[in-house]
Amino acid sequence: MRRYDADYWRRLDEQKQFPSEFFDAMAEAGYFGTLIPEAYGGSDAGPEVASVIVEEINRQGGDAAAINAQMAISGVIVRSGSEAQRARLEQIAKGKLKCLAVAATESDSGADMSQLESSAKRQGDGWVLEAKKMFISMAEHTELLLLLVNSEVGPTLFLIDVAEAKHHIEVRPMPMVVNRMTTSLFVDGLWVPDSARVGAPGEGLACLMRGFALRRILAAAESIGNARFLLDKSLEQAKSRHTFNRPIGQNQGVQYPLAQAYAKIEAADLMRWDALRELRSGSDAGGRSALAKILASEAAWEMARAALTAFGGWALASEMHIERKLRECTVFVFNNMLLSYVSHRVLELPKAF
Ligand SMILES: Cc1cc2nc3c(=O)[nH]c(=O)nc-3n(C[C@H](O)[C@H](O)[C@H](O)COP(=O)(O)OP(=O)(O)OC[C@H]3O[C@@H](n4cnc5c(N)ncnc54)[C@H](O)[C@@H]3O)c2cc1C
Repeated sequence: MRRYDADYWRRLDEQKQFPSEFFDAMAEAGYFGTLIPEAYGGSDAGPEVASVIVEEINRQGGDAAAINAQMAISGVIVRSGSEAQRARLEQIAKGKLKCLAVAATESDSGADMSQLESSAKRQGDGWVLEAKKMFISMAEHTELLLLLVNSEVGPTLFLIDVAEAKHHIEVRPMPMVVNRMTTSLFVDGLWVPDSARVGAPGEGLACLMRGFALRRILAAAESIGNARFLLDKSLEQAKSRHTFNRPIGQNQGVQYPLAQAYAKIEAADLMRWDALRELRSGSDAGGRSALAKILASEAAWEMARAALTAFGGWALASEMHIERKLRECTVFVFNNMLLSYVSHRVLELPKAF
């Protein structure tokens, strides 16, 4: 990370660019195989290592989104892909094939994936796909795309080779608060062979959901990294900046928010490791991973608020990296679906929907 300091990430954020150089360096270091079994060319180092990688990138002022995507999205292929699809994992592990995007969300149905309007219709020994997707991150940079569409029997998942499908796919950038390279994506009359299907027809959402615990843990780790970056910067500022002839960190109005946020970051981190422990023991880690994501994203949000106080006006100057991290923290704070999951599955309250 010393070669890719916070200023490198600030420039990418300003120019809304993909971290190409950093991506290549991570590929060279062999990190993209972290969650891929050795039999398919990965290192199988495991979810604990993956979580430390994304945490550390964010903790040093980076944005792990692209790295997280390349490490974790291919987990769908590991768990549910055909042997022909798994044969591509080795190239993904080497970073030579970008597998960065899942296209599931649609503008009307939003969080309700049971109401997808996109369609997959049988034609010959393949399918014709039509879709309008919203908020799709990194679609302009990926070479493989996981696309969720509705077939006669329900949501069905396809692995699309973007270069082969390019005449039927249109991607339009959506300006957003963060550099997630988010787009709307349109698929028009794309024919794909049945071999492009991942998992059984109607099982597409289930295929994605099998990886949700891990994705939540990685989101928690990213949030903890963001929070610790903000805490480190704030402590430095609180100790070194003097007003009224004393360090600003001597004021309780500056100290206590930092101490409160620190307590929550540490608690969220313990929950993240507990979720990892459960995952390692073979449990689905559904409840623990949901709690880790909720606690970590909220701790980071609270930490961002405390950093605003510690930095005052300087917090809003881009050169300090606080306003960028504040924006990057927003991506993780949508937790209603997880709260609903915890209410029903853990606390056994009536199902909300
Ligand atoms: C930066 C960014 C990147 C994204 N990248 C991707 C991507 O790569 N691929 C992809 O497929 N999607 C992506 N998304 C989409 C994201 O998954 C959706 O925002 C999410 O599914 C919710 O859809 P929506 O925003 O339309 O919210 P809506 O469905 O309109 O919901 C609005 C609010 O109401 C809440 N809500 C809805 N229903 C309920 C309920 N029953 N109970 C309680 N609360 C409820 C939601 O939690 C939310 O807070 C991205 C979003 C963002 C912001």
